[in-house]
Amino acid sequence: LVERMRQFGTTIFTEMSALAVRTGSINLGQGFPDTDGPAEMLAAAADALRSGANQYPPLPGIPALRAAITAHEERFWGLTRDPDSEVVVTAGATEAVAAAILGLCDAGDEVVCFEPYYDSYAASITLAGAVRRPVTLRPGPDGRYRFDEAALRAAFGPRTRLVLLNSPHNPTGKVFTRTELELIATLCQEHDAYAVTDEVYEHLVFTDAPEPHVPLASLPGMRDRTLRISSAGKTFSCTGWKVGWATGPAPLVATVQRVKQFLTFVNAGPLQPAVAVALALPDDYFTGFRAGLQARRDRLVIGLTEAGFTVLPSEGTYFITADITPLGGTDGADFCRSLPERCGVVAVPTQVFYDHREAGRHLIRFAFCKRQEVIDEAAQRLTKLG
Ligand code: PMP
Ligand code: GLN
Repeated sequence: LVERMRQFGTTIFTEMSALAVRTGSINLGQGFPDTDGPAEMLAAAADALRSGANQYPPLPGIPALRAAITAHEERFWGLTRDPDSEVVVTAGATEAVAAAILGLCDAGDEVVCFEPYYDSYAASITLAGAVRRPVTLRPGPDGRYRFDEAALRAAFGPRTRLVLLNSPHNPTGKVFTRTELELIATLCQEHDAYAVTDEVYEHLVFTDAPEPHVPLASLPGMRDRTLRISSAGKTFSCTGWKVGWATGPAPLVATVQRVKQFLTFVNAGPLQPAVAVALALPDDYFTGFRAGLQARRDRLVIGLTEAGFTVLPSEGTYFITADITPLGGTDGADFCRSLPERCGVVAVPTQVFYDHREAGRHLIRFAFCKRQEVIDEAAQRLTKLG
């Protein structure tokens, strides 16, 4: 293994899902739903498979999907993009992030990001020979995660190439506020940096979140320097399909395409028309999906609180974080490794998503994108911890 990849072992998701299988535990670790997505989408995929849509799609994605992506962005976020030159379909958001970083960063360029960060970010930045400049999110007195403005300012410098922003944020469930986004936008412009935004949870902001989701690309001055990334996996409960996309100004999209053509060339031919159908579903689908998740979040919050955790508020995503300190825990990784034996539930330690591990040592993440009865059973099992 080359030197630069040596620091990256097996991902925490693989490790924890294997632990769940081995111990027969309820897996609230890896974030994938345990029910299928919308029937119309599944039927469209089956039709496409049977009607011969099984060869290479065009490099940027099939026209129907690109049109659906731009129509969806305009419907929900008021962003207008040209489906022919400002959209590229990718193998999940993961490939879009990787291709963006590989295409935009030279060795030694710096990427400002927020920790805890999604694990593929660190690997993609390292593969590009770039350097990450993480800004730490910490729970404030009300439990909501915040960053220090001075720390963000200090993270920018002459080598800053881009800011990589994930909102709604995995693993914290934080939704960046407009004020926070405005600061990020100002710094991007002052330093002439690009922004790459990972918005895979764009539809999963709960009704009690203090602010709605705002794409950074919609702020003044950001449209022409932002690549906005999303994916069908989370919104339509099809994480195994790996259909994602990036939208942005044509030169940035062309950069992603140039890299993508040598990573995967194209992906998921028969699934592309199905995702086009899903993106055009009526608003009810999106609000209903969110409401269902919010109810399961609320159930899990009660369970975790009763079990003795300090639960930090989750404003969106599939996830919620909890502090293990009241249960006598000091290290989330040790805690999560022993949790299956203690009560038959799997969670993920969030310290692995920080460069400054100390900041997340006592925090763990639970996924609530599971059926109500599964959450109920997990909550029941967690009471054994007390
Ligand atoms: N970004 C974030 C923040 C995620 O939580 C995930 C997991 N779905 C991804 C990217 C990867 O998305 P995909 O499966 O579409 O590659
Ligand atoms: N995005 C999901 C999570 O955060 C799973 C990602 C993965 O398995 N690589 O849990």
